[in-house]
Amino acid sequence: RNFDDAGLHPVMLANVKLCQYNVPTPIQSYCIPAVLSGHDVVAVAQTGSGKTAAFLIPILSKLMGKARQLAAPRPNPARYNAATDRVRAEPLVLVVCPTRELACQIFDEARRLCYRTMLRPCVVYGGAPTRNQREQLEMGCDILIATPGRLMDFMQNNNLLSFRRLKFTVIDEADELLSTGWEETMEKLFQGSGSDMNTDADHTYLMFSATFPKSARRLAKEYMEEDCCRIK
Ligand code: AMP
Repeated sequence: RNFDDAGLHPVMLANVKLCQYNVPTPIQSYCIPAVLSGHDVVAVAQTGSGKTAAFLIPILSKLMGKARQLAAPRPNPARYNAATDRVRAEPLVLVVCPTRELACQIFDEARRLCYRTMLRPCVVYGGAPTRNQREQLEMGCDILIATPGRLMDFMQNNNLLSFRRLKFTVIDEADELLSTGWEETMEKLFQGSGSDMNTDADHTYLMFSATFPKSARRLAKEYMEEDCCRIK
């Protein structure tokens, strides 16, 4: 298998080549067609397997095909005044992961794969001042990469985020998130409770985890489509 006949958007194919990804890793070979054909995905994935590109490539490729319809509300940077022109960030993709380091790595990869598109990734994480992150969101955000605490903070306290346009939710390193006390938060994200999240049938869920403890299996069983692709 190679990337050329995977049915990717031409801009995505060009960006994959710029990243010097020539051959898909095994998880990419499974995940890319599954996501392109609209399935939820539950995958056992270790760091280093290429799992980040395995979800970003097909998700972003699908969005590139619809970029015109989906263009996010965005201030004109030349005239933008954060004090007066507050725009709620309305991401199309939400990636939740347990650590700041991982969030930043995913953000870097998203930036490279979004090159020469209108899609704008943003990253938010705890342990850093909120101001800069808030300003980034205010400039518009299509792909939001977040650690759970800061995500909840922005969702609850700042009235800055709307999930009504959300089409993809990715839970990365689910076992880590669940074992560090975020189970209830993950459940809320799946249910869309307390937010205006789009939970329609066209919302795709992806879960990646190195191990599948009971809690992760339960979430997958409860909230993800029955014929989702399970990748080992
Ligand atoms: P990850 O498992 O997502 O942390 O990725 C591990 C590393 O593999 C990252 O540095 C990626 O840039 C790189 N990578 C991902 N996919 C490919 C590929 N198909 N070919 C070569 N390198 C890749």
